[in-house]
Amino acid sequence: MGKKKLFSKPMIGIDLGATKIFAAVADENGKIIATAKKKSAGEQGREAVLDRVADTALKALVDSGVSIKKIGAVGIGVPSPVDIKTGVAYLSPNLGWKNVPVKKDLEARLGLPVFVDNDVNVGTLGEHVLGAGRGAGCMAGIFVGTGIGGGIIIDGKVIHGRNMTGGELGHMIIVPDGPLCGCGNRGCLEALASRIAITRDVLAAIDKGMPTMLTDMLEKNTDRIKSSVFKKAYEAGDELTVTYLNRSAWFLGIAVANIVNAIGPDIVVIGGGFFEALGAQLLPIVRVSASHHYFGPAGKDMKVVLAELGDSAAALGAAVFASRGGI
Ligand SMILES: [Zn+2]
Repeated sequence: MGKKKLFSKPMIGIDLGATKIFAAVADENGKIIATAKKKSAGEQGREAVLDRVADTALKALVDSGVSIKKIGAVGIGVPSPVDIKTGVAYLSPNLGWKNVPVKKDLEARLGLPVFVDNDVNVGTLGEHVLGAGRGAGCMAGIFVGTGIGGGIIIDGKVIHGRNMTGGELGHMIIVPDGPLCGCGNRGCLEALASRIAITRDVLAAIDKGMPTMLTDMLEKNTDRIKSSVFKKAYEAGDELTVTYLNRSAWFLGIAVANIVNAIGPDIVVIGGGFFEALGAQLLPIVRVSASHHYFGPAGKDMKVVLAELGDSAAALGAAVFASRGGI
């Protein structure tokens, strides 16, 4: 007996990020057969960005050798809350977008059905169907990078919520009078444990004269500290780096416990660029912190694991979302 196929036809999945567009053609088993990349170039305006999205999708399609007639649908994750019924992206400060009819505009360009959701929601869906969350009924995904995104899947479906903001786990408030978050609140998980938050605290400590090997590793004229730099300093046992990164993992563990106490998932998957670099070091601390904060048996047999799909999670999840007709 043959294995049941995941999709009835090959799908195109697209991850539209603030800086780059990544498109993938996936076969019926959800395996990527071709990919393409372009810069988002948000500063060129929305029409130009959508042109580039369509170009990227078509480039991946040509490379895949699959005829456009064979493609089932196109899914796209965008960095914005999205009305998944209409495919309108409400607000994306990074792209300078407000109420952009992504579905309508891309269908006109590609001549294929297009389904749109938030990038982190489709990333969570990708990990759920094809990555670390395979086989789980309920799952939470946390993606730690420049910021922190999240997604919640209950009984196999992504939760969008009343105002399409369900699963915004990065804005869970962990410390009520904590540091200011980009969203305007204080003490959100993102303001405590994202790469930008850790960088802010590390630079402040360096300004106060605290010794660290990071001082010699910083790029000139920039406030950016790459994940790879943090990893190097952490592995070398640099005290300041270890202190701040462990603290961020402790906060992340509190967030994991809050999620688990609230929805009781089977698995929590943690990914994102920062955690791809430092997950091996930080995941054990996240687990210990979470175990200190679970309510009663909430954490029993519950798994907290690293994501598996890396940069492909959102594009693959978008393909899954498209294969389901946008639900
Ligand atoms: Zn926030």
